[in-house]
Amino acid sequence: MRGERSRMKDRGLLIVFSGPSGVGKGTVRKEIFEASRHDFEYSISMTTRKKRPGEMEGVDYFFRTREEFEEMIKNGQMLEYAEYVGNYYGTPLKYINQKLNEGKDVFLEIEVQGASQVKEKVPDGVFIFLIPPDLDELRERIVGRGTDSSGVIEERMRVAQEEIEMMSLYDYAVVNDEVAFAAVRVKDIIAGEHFRVDRVIGRYLKMIREYNQ
Ligand code: 5GP
Repeated sequence: MRGERSRMKDRGLLIVFSGPSGVGKGTVRKEIFEASRHDFEYSISMTTRKKRPGEMEGVDYFFRTREEFEEMIKNGQMLEYAEYVGNYYGTPLKYINQKLNEGKDVFLEIEVQGASQVKEKVPDGVFIFLIPPDLDELRERIVGRGTDSSGVIEERMRVAQEEIEMMSLYDYAVVNDEVAFAAVRVKDIIAGEHFRVDRVIGRYLKMIREYNQ
């Protein structure tokens, strides 16, 4: 038996990837998952918003009605949730618990309200904040979407500035100057987290205890 239990998998890391609206979280997340190797699992969110062309149930999101979503909240089945532009978005608990218990790392891409709920519940998660190179660039991206009136653009800019001020909750700030660079930075951070002494010391102390039994 000596050493047998010590080789048991540690619980995985919960990685929370967030940032202000319009910064390009979705694009960087896709680059991380599609363009290269990674060894963490993406937590598919649940939402009440309508499916966009090309999106698939169970791939991009789990698309649910408001009633179904509210039932999940009532039953304590969401790690976090937020209302964003009139729709619910949230992280179902079951999948992430299962993966973390298997020793797999789980990656959430969520807006900032949800991220602060996760910070309260799982303070030892890895909190990564994606920031725009500067506010002019952020404004260009929001204008570039072409969907908002000038009043809405100013409102989004105001909200984005408040969201940037929430950066102090996070462990890392990654500048989204170029998508490919930002994706590499995020992956480097995740890799580095596994070498932190406070994450591995428990395993080694346990090994010593078992060795001396
Ligand atoms: P979209 O409608 O463009 O797919 O997403 C809108 C916003 O919701 C994005 O900022 C995205 O990061 C965020 N979001 C996606 N899934 C979740 C989730 O499970 N929880 C929270 N709090 N935000 C989410």
